[in-house]
Amino acid sequence: MRAPANTGDTSAASGFSGSDRPLWEVYSKCIHCGLCLNHCPTYRELGVEMDSPRGRIYQMALVDEGRLALAERFVQHIDLCLDCRACETACPAGVLYGKLVEAARAQIEQHYRRPLVARMARRVFYDCLLVSPPLLKLAGRLLWLYQASGAQKMARRSGLLRVLGLARIEALAPESQPPFFFSQLGKTYPAVGERRYRVAFFAGCIANVSFARLNEASVRVLAANGCEVVIPASQGCCGALHVHAGRREEARRLARRNLDAFLAEPFDAIINNAAGCGSTLKEYGELLDGDGRDAERARLFVSRMKDITEFLAEIGLVQRLGAVAARATYQDSCHLGHAQRVRAAPRELIRSVPGIEFQELPLADICCGSAGIYNVVHNELSMSLLKKKMEAISATGAGLVLTANPGCLLQLRAGVAQWGNGQRVLHVVELLDESLRAM
Ligand code: SF4
Ligand code: SF4
Repeated sequence: MRAPANTGDTSAASGFSGSDRPLWEVYSKCIHCGLCLNHCPTYRELGVEMDSPRGRIYQMALVDEGRLALAERFVQHIDLCLDCRACETACPAGVLYGKLVEAARAQIEQHYRRPLVARMARRVFYDCLLVSPPLLKLAGRLLWLYQASGAQKMARRSGLLRVLGLARIEALAPESQPPFFFSQLGKTYPAVGERRYRVAFFAGCIANVSFARLNEASVRVLAANGCEVVIPASQGCCGALHVHAGRREEARRLARRNLDAFLAEPFDAIINNAAGCGSTLKEYGELLDGDGRDAERARLFVSRMKDITEFLAEIGLVQRLGAVAARATYQDSCHLGHAQRVRAAPRELIRSVPGIEFQELPLADICCGSAGIYNVVHNELSMSLLKKKMEAISATGAGLVLTANPGCLLQLRAGVAQWGNGQRVLHVVELLDESLRAM
């Protein structure tokens, strides 16, 4: 079978290779009922069948059969998918859409030649920045200089960013938070009071720089609830963004490194606070399927892997919580709600905080438009989703917006700045930390 290329030659389209090949049964599970369509953010926005789950599955099957060229139009429809997996939740036939879109992206990555600038940008971002702590630190320091020196304020006020067409993207830049969490790698924090569990904490990659305070709060909340928290030194990027971009070989390399870091000791659980990373960490078994000993190690790793909200709700909070007076609402992170099916735990934790008046958010499980770097590469569509999300949030009257993923935090904060009423946006764990400190 010839390798497909973006030539418009349909005979060049081919299937997936090795363990990334989704079986025909996965496509054929789709009964074309269309029940997923109204749950799909891109279909809701664009009203185009080819940008719906059903339409995308149809195109993938055609490409796999060699009846549709693996060319620009197909790539655009697949690129436009948020990989939010809302369609999986909605699907009565159990179609595992996430697997399909990730495999399609791997196929595109292997056989489609993107423009040179896009290829270079992807290479720098995925192969250099995400996987290199020294580069992340350097980028964090430069970002800090830009933000703390007043250059950011000046650039925003002067209108320069607008002239350069960068204003909307720049508004999404994370805050650089020195001291970076990299300095915590290799440390162990004792449990407060009697030790109930010994857990390992997964710190992420960019989060070490931009969510250092969230990571610290996570460690404090775990320790306060009887966990000895070990932060393995040799851990690194989980590979989630690589998987979503179809760069599965790099993701496998990163996964093996994390297996070495986290399986060195028999922890009761491996905890992470970023739903986007968590869903990939929980899917290491599939990523390394057929990989001999690593497949077995991956299964052990996955059996220990927990989102922090899931873990805390399971073990129960033992420290008394202080009051945080606020009306609060909660936005499901797609990769926690749809991919990990963790929905009750964060709500349970929020409701456990004295003083919180909880108000459900209508359509809380529809993506806010963050989706990794989707808000940067598909900014217009992402902002349209965010605007609607902010209208729904404002209608709840909540002054506190909670979520469980750093990417969603950034997106919702940008939403508050542009369309909000001054709402505070926090991770569920930050609320718990604040509540503990209120005691
Ligand atoms: S993953 Fe999300 S954006 Fe993609 S097809 Fe499914 S519902 Fe639509
Ligand atoms: S809900 Fe499931 S079976 Fe129905 S069209 Fe969507 S993916 Fe196919």
